[in-house]
Amino acid sequence: MQEYCWLNGEIIPVGEAKVSVLDHGVLYGDGVFEGMRVYNRRTFKLAEHLKRLQQSAHALQLEMPYSIADLTQACEQLINTNGMHDGYIRLVVTRGEGFLGLDPRNCNQPNVFILYRGLKMGHDEIQQRGARLITASVRRTPMDVLEPKIKTLNYLNNILAKMEANQAGADDAILLNHAGQVAEASAANLFIVKNGILLTPPLEAGILQGITRDTIIELAQQNGLTVAEQPMSLYDVYNADEGFLTGSGAELIPIGEVNGRKLKQAVGPVFQQLVQAYHRLTRGEIE
Ligand code: PMP
Repeated sequence: MQEYCWLNGEIIPVGEAKVSVLDHGVLYGDGVFEGMRVYNRRTFKLAEHLKRLQQSAHALQLEMPYSIADLTQACEQLINTNGMHDGYIRLVVTRGEGFLGLDPRNCNQPNVFILYRGLKMGHDEIQQRGARLITASVRRTPMDVLEPKIKTLNYLNNILAKMEANQAGADDAILLNHAGQVAEASAANLFIVKNGILLTPPLEAGILQGITRDTIIELAQQNGLTVAEQPMSLYDVYNADEGFLTGSGAELIPIGEVNGRKLKQAVGPVFQQLVQAYHRLTRGEIE
């Protein structure tokens, strides 16, 4: 089946979609992106993702050539063209083609593209046993180096963290911040449960403000749970009753162990309650 993408206003076969080798997204990682899931042809939290994209671009003084309404329509058009009911959308905005030097003033036309792909459903084993995590030696980008709220194309330390996890035979890595506190996983936010309270690192820990994180906080509160955003150490995670990771692509992933320390429950009751609520929400069964 022919796979299509959306590139600068046009739907074209993925094989024909090209961006220049002089695009500063390619040369310098100068750009922003979003990743979203589509459930039954509906892009979950599309408005929230497009708002974050717009804010990321604004923070980098990257002029988006398309409005939120244009991009909403583009996603819908692409889903209809590809025909898949469920999948993953990647929306990328680069600084565009320029001179070889990094000065962005010579980049006049950002490139915007959207990919829509099927997802490998290989998470079953991890969903049952809980993810094995390690801590990465590389730290989360500090706020005074590059604001972690901006979802830039600069993912090198997240990639290095993932490589460390791969080499250790783990499923993913936790990145600590500069103060040694828990920040997040390579591409997901982190939650733990202690004495019935749901805890997650605050934005000040230097994390991406995950849209799934926001959704889970809201769902937990609706389900009568107390939620606190507070700094957390590895000790807190080791001694948690349960824990899980959240992300648009990842959804909810239970944490089985961290650096060889097993959590009390790999797949605990709070996780199970929230994962069910999350699935009902993504399928449009609850508001
Ligand atoms: N942190 C990082 C570094 C990420 O890349 C992601 C995935 N976008 C997340 C957290 C989770 O964010 P969201 O729930 O918005 O997908």
